[in-house]
Amino acid sequence: MGIIIAVVFVLAMGIGAQAASEPRNLYWGCQGEDVAALQTQLNSLDFNCGKVDGIFGPKTYAAVVALQKSCGLAADGIVGPQTRNAIANLLTKSSSPLPILYQGCRGDKVAELQNKLKAAGFDCGPVDGIFGPKTHAAVVALQKACNIKVDGIVGPQTWEALSKPIPKPPAESGTPSRGNSVPKYTKVLNMVATAYCPCNKCNYPYGGQPSYIGLPLGHGIVAVDPNVIPLRTRLYIEGYGEAIAADTGGAIKGNRIDLCFPDHQSALNFGIKNVKVYILE
Ligand SMILES: [Zn+2]
Repeated sequence: MGIIIAVVFVLAMGIGAQAASEPRNLYWGCQGEDVAALQTQLNSLDFNCGKVDGIFGPKTYAAVVALQKSCGLAADGIVGPQTRNAIANLLTKSSSPLPILYQGCRGDKVAELQNKLKAAGFDCGPVDGIFGPKTHAAVVALQKACNIKVDGIVGPQTWEALSKPIPKPPAESGTPSRGNSVPKYTKVLNMVATAYCPCNKCNYPYGGQPSYIGLPLGHGIVAVDPNVIPLRTRLYIEGYGEAIAADTGGAIKGNRIDLCFPDHQSALNFGIKNVKVYILE
């Protein structure tokens, strides 16, 4: 009898020892080093639980619940195996964050940025790990080409843009690129283009009349918001060609542009597109 109890006791000890190697569940009221470690992790993941004091109180609870919700877990405020895994995953993801770079920064990450800019076709000068004016200009050009916030600062959006195929940058002012060259220009605008033709339907109630500045309607005549593009400005429109800002339209306001086509079917075929509009010299 005594022996059996002893065996059971030893087995129980063994099981107990094994269980102890697994981290314990943490919840409101727990205290200890492990709570402090949890708090440090939560804070580093931006689930703010305030001071790292090793006491699982209301702030830690709120942080755990927020983290659980963001991971789609049961928001019970108890850090068990699932929540521990979720935290571990988040920590791995955030362990090599891409730095925010801007003019004046130096180092390996700047060199990495420069290599990526070059690979994407944005000239940033020599890869020297120094974020100078040329790198800044290349970042700005990239941001414009990718239609993201143009601030010359390399943050998450810009890093992400660099990780994807990038639309070819337009040629620098004055240097035509590719076969389909853009004439000398001073400015590029991203605009929403629609199409029209000289027919009555498209020009109601001005059917049969010339454009606003008196030029006959046809290919190369475009309607603009004169507050954005002054009338008579020469333009080059991606996918359309050279044109002159010669017309206006009731719906053509802000970044809208209306391109004239010789016939109604061509206008219908064009539909509506995002285009780059080059303001020519
Ligand atoms: Zn028409």
